[in-house]
Amino acid sequence: MQATAVPPSPSLSIDLDAIEHNARIITDLCREHGIEVTGVTKATCGHPEVAGAMLRGGVSSIADSRMENIRRLQAAGINAPCMLLRVPALSIADEVVGSVAVSLNSELSVLEALARATKHYGRVHEVILMVDLGDLREGILPADLIPFVRETLKLPGIKIKGLGTNLACFGGVAPDRDNMSHLVELACELEQTFGLTLAWISGANSSGLELIAAGNMPHRINHARIGEAILLGRETLQRRPVAHTRQDAFILHAEILELKTKPSKVMGKRCEDAFGRKPLFKDHGLMDRALLNVGREDVDIEGIMVLDPRLKIIGASSGYLVVDVTEVSNHLRVGDTLSFSLNYSGLLAAMTSEYVKKRPLRGGVHLETIP
Ligand SMILES: *Cc1c(COP(=O)(O)O)cnc(C)c1O
Repeated sequence: MQATAVPPSPSLSIDLDAIEHNARIITDLCREHGIEVTGVTKATCGHPEVAGAMLRGGVSSIADSRMENIRRLQAAGINAPCMLLRVPALSIADEVVGSVAVSLNSELSVLEALARATKHYGRVHEVILMVDLGDLREGILPADLIPFVRETLKLPGIKIKGLGTNLACFGGVAPDRDNMSHLVELACELEQTFGLTLAWISGANSSGLELIAAGNMPHRINHARIGEAILLGRETLQRRPVAHTRQDAFILHAEILELKTKPSKVMGKRCEDAFGRKPLFKDHGLMDRALLNVGREDVDIEGIMVLDPRLKIIGASSGYLVVDVTEVSNHLRVGDTLSFSLNYSGLLAAMTSEYVKKRPLRGGVHLETIP
């Protein structure tokens, strides 16, 4: 347990060497199978140091789902090509053409607006058309694809760079040889029907890595958009660690505000808690309880795991986390820091909270301490 230190609290340490290492492992793996990797920074709100680490590790471009994040990356000097991952809102078509080279798309009216914007800027905008292969989030249904592409090809300034699909994010549908082959067949059909060449067939996100590693991804799939596996070192079907990657790039640190021995079961007449729930507490007798300075406003309680296995998270309100520290309380003081690992939803929330200070580390040195 480290003693109170000067660093800001709560904080999220970001080990850039771990991210670079993971990016290298994953881009090497994908390259062996003919697949180019775009690094996805959205879970880190487009953190420029994270994007830099991904690029050093070998990703060829960066993708994020929000224009705010892409602008943050560009303002910080990331000059690799940027791709917009979330299908653009009609209202930001102009901005998209102005700032990104490639976007993912599934609506003709949006493509028409993008085409109009390319005229102002005098530039071509590349698009990946998304096909919905069953996860039922974004995407054109396969039966509608041919007429959709016929209309898209009439739009000046729009170039179809590829065909893509996204699985396992919303509906939890796993990529497999069948749906990936379906994507390839659709791509071939488009190429034959319209005399096109699709540069990218973008089949995979982190959920496709085991298929790739097993050599079961159809050959023409040549592009992947990878976030979680680079950031957290896990594929996303079962959250298994990806071989040779690190799972410790992000660690959350929070400070003990109060440390007291209290009953484990609440006292008094029960009502709803701050979030409309009626939590149940078992009576384990007296318990040493630490109150920490993170809460639901900063983290997803189900998405953080206390690093010391002797500690247990009891619950949280918007500004407090309550931890059972009975087994180690002799060694703890008010002002000490407890550390937590994070899953994807924990990471997303901690990165988004302005109260959690981000502390990128490189070569063991906190970057903000470098003059
Ligand atoms: C978030 C996202 C990804 C990256 O997914 P991971 O599971 O983090 O690898 C890829 N493609 C699209 C369209 C996304 O929205």
